[in-house]
Amino acid sequence: MIAIIGGGVFGLSIGWYLARSGQAVTIFERGQVGRGATWAAAGMLMPWKLSDSFSDDLFALQRDSYQRWPRFAQELGEISDIPLHYQTDGRFFVALFDNAVQRLERQYRFHRDIGFPVEWLSGDEAREREPNLGPNVLAAIFTPMAHHVDNRNLILALREAFLAVGGRLREQTEVQELLISNKRVHGLQLSGETCSAETVIIAAGAWSGRVPGLPQPLQDVVRPRKGQTLILQMPPDAPLIKQPILGPVYLVPRPDGRLIIGTTVEREAGFDTRSTVGGVFHILRKAQGIIPNIEELPIIELGAGLRPTGPDRLPVLGPTGVDGLIMATGGHSYGILLSPVVAFTVCHLALTGHILEIIRPFAPNSGSDKI
Ligand SMILES: Cc1cc2nc3c(=O)[nH]c(=O)nc-3n(C[C@H](O)[C@H](O)[C@H](O)COP(=O)(O)OP(=O)(O)OC[C@H]3O[C@@H](n4cnc5c(N)ncnc54)[C@H](O)[C@@H]3O)c2cc1C
Repeated sequence: MIAIIGGGVFGLSIGWYLARSGQAVTIFERGQVGRGATWAAAGMLMPWKLSDSFSDDLFALQRDSYQRWPRFAQELGEISDIPLHYQTDGRFFVALFDNAVQRLERQYRFHRDIGFPVEWLSGDEAREREPNLGPNVLAAIFTPMAHHVDNRNLILALREAFLAVGGRLREQTEVQELLISNKRVHGLQLSGETCSAETVIIAAGAWSGRVPGLPQPLQDVVRPRKGQTLILQMPPDAPLIKQPILGPVYLVPRPDGRLIIGTTVEREAGFDTRSTVGGVFHILRKAQGIIPNIEELPIIELGAGLRPTGPDRLPVLGPTGVDGLIMATGGHSYGILLSPVVAFTVCHLALTGHILEIIRPFAPNSGSDKI
């Protein structure tokens, strides 16, 4: 039996791929599936090199996964009726200050030179397309390449797909300890029950280093990076914006008029997911600089999620040095984007023992110590 710890987007995607290839797979989720970082996300899907120091290996992994997304979405759509709202209509990146314009120009040149379809717009040109953009927007990039998905529906669809191909799901079931002896994993300790497994995949998000029984070097494999968000309600027939906008914060519209805005990246908050005045204030102030008219919208939800962040913000994917034990975590801010490639490569590893080249740079403990 293959056991997966964690029912977030990584655990469910891997579980779906393994179960449909005929394996007996059980996902253990201590709460309800998808209520960790995956619930808090905005669902934006695009490879993007944010800075000169952004890892080439990560960019390659993002591009690979981005190319897998249309098929991933189509196959999910064939199994589940839950609409993913997988949208391919593009996104604006905006700059509000001179130094942000220079940064955006560098990103524009880099992505144009590698062949991405990017269009440089003045503030006024951007306002012609999205009239509610505020006067502080000095410049923008538009790219039709940016896609997005409703991450909450994605989880519901993955749950359905996993069960439809014979996967076994145990929600409200916390894994209390990994059973390891002679450098081999044998199974899991649950409350009042042990469960044998030849392969265990740890996909427990920001908690991946905290599963009891994990050997010491793996305990620091990821740290939580808190991200706060708000959801506002726009009139569905008169939305303030049509396409996602990314600046100092992001604003992502959903077809039902919800507007997801975020986020913070907090190093010191530990595992605390409460909303804070400072976090909410920061997001609203920045969002209002981009779209002043959000002032009129009701707030329908405050939330936060914990990004699983590996060393240098790189994913952590691969064998661990304990036979049968695999890590699949470290999605940081791009875990929804990365799910198809993670599902494919981790499934391949679990079935064949072979590590595909694309994930080799992300072996547990291969990065630096900087988290
Ligand atoms: C505010 C915010 C915005 C984001 N926006 C985007 C975006 O636009 N695009 C994008 O690609 N990515 C985005 N991300 C990143 C993305 O959400 C994450 O990388 C991804 O969801 C991580 O998925 P996961 O399955 O690894 O972890 P999670 O979704 O956190 O799932 C881990 C699961 O493991 C369970 N678990 C933990 N310990 C145990 C245990 N001992 N036993 C049983 N179960 C256990 C937890 O209950 C949880 O359900 C965003 C993240 C945040 C916080």
